[in-house]
Amino acid sequence: MTNKSTFEEGQEYAIRMDLVDPLSAFKDRFHCPKHVDGKDIIYFCGNSLGLQPAHVMEPIMEVMESWKTRAVEGHFTGQRPWMHYCDQINPVMARLVGAKTAEVHVMNTLTVNLHLMMVSFYRPSKKRFKILIDYSPFPSDRYAVVSQIQFHGFDPKEALIELQPNDDTSIIRLEQIQNILEKEGDEIALVMIGGVNYYSGQLYPLGEITRIAHDKGCLVGFDLAHAAGNVTLSLHEDGPDFAIWCTYKYLNAGPGNLSGCFVHERHHQDVSIPRFAGWWGYEKKTRFLMKDDFVPEQNTEGWTLSNPPIVSLAGILASMEIFDDAGMNRLRQKSVALTGYLEFLIRKIDHPSISIITPSYPEQRGCQLSLRIAQGGKELFQKIRHQGVIGDWREPDVIRATPVPLYNSFQEVYHFSEILKNCLD
Ligand SMILES: *Cc1c(COP(=O)(O)O)cnc(C)c1O
Repeated sequence: MTNKSTFEEGQEYAIRMDLVDPLSAFKDRFHCPKHVDGKDIIYFCGNSLGLQPAHVMEPIMEVMESWKTRAVEGHFTGQRPWMHYCDQINPVMARLVGAKTAEVHVMNTLTVNLHLMMVSFYRPSKKRFKILIDYSPFPSDRYAVVSQIQFHGFDPKEALIELQPNDDTSIIRLEQIQNILEKEGDEIALVMIGGVNYYSGQLYPLGEITRIAHDKGCLVGFDLAHAAGNVTLSLHEDGPDFAIWCTYKYLNAGPGNLSGCFVHERHHQDVSIPRFAGWWGYEKKTRFLMKDDFVPEQNTEGWTLSNPPIVSLAGILASMEIFDDAGMNRLRQKSVALTGYLEFLIRKIDHPSISIITPSYPEQRGCQLSLRIAQGGKELFQKIRHQGVIGDWREPDVIRATPVPLYNSFQEVYHFSEILKNCLD
């Protein structure tokens, strides 16, 4: 859409960009909180909780109505029988993450899926027992990984390797991952990193990481909580063994909603992989014979446990309809321009207190910019909140500002930078 050298200062540029933005109408498909002046808040927090799709009550009420009027028969009758509800969601979700439909299923919540995936894909031996994790991973991921290591009787002090930047930036270079795998690869059972780091906003080269980790005999899992719906992904081709993500951040499916799960098709037929089983993972065509021995469905659904909460799925369906209309490639194109513009304007402010810790190359980041505030960060964060900006604050000194291409505009980026400048003075 644009490259860095073409950005311009002044509101005229933002107005012009909004006029030619093919996705500008999608803003109307979301509810946005209001500021005290009655205008929309500048909502730069879609990395934490996405806005509510304006039509979300339609599919939700449809489920409630079906439950009210059909009760148990709603499983098989009505406009969208609950038995097959996931069939409308999985194909769109699969396109979003670049996977085959059979490789993707929506189930459980994110951390639950991480545990289930580690039951199957972290099977440590005396010789190969380590897990390589992201620099400063999301706390839940660390707790999950450490508890799995302990569950298998290993000591996290020996078994947990955390990536570390080797300079005073927050950026991890591929060579560092390469070096660790070169040195300790034979002892690493699982490489488990975020697609986009939640703190720094760094996007990792997922295909290359998978390739070098597989070359060393390690299995690979990605937490895509900050990547799904944010950047274009090609999970099938990149080839990790599993991936997981939530649907309430960039995917706008509502607070705490279910998680997406990817298992590469190379594992689908392999019934020797240990897993924690439940009846909804049973082979579909014989599930209701209610036999004693577990026979998994031979795709990612074979890892699910329970019959799904349809009201929650209705929220995901509403979101998927919007993504299907917008298209991930168009979203990404706008996102690169929007975030590049934000970076451009913040650099123009040129204030000694602010540094951007997110990588500067568009291919190494998604929507989010993490701003390190050397002094008075928390006060600054509160000041911009009073001026009608919702971003988010991460201890000890980072404001994450995330313009989202589905519902944020170039003019909002412009106003954000003006508010930031005024609050800094
Ligand atoms: C948001 C997020 C989570 C949250 O996990 P839940 O189980 O959905 O509460 C976990 N990991 C990462 C990387 C996240 O960004």
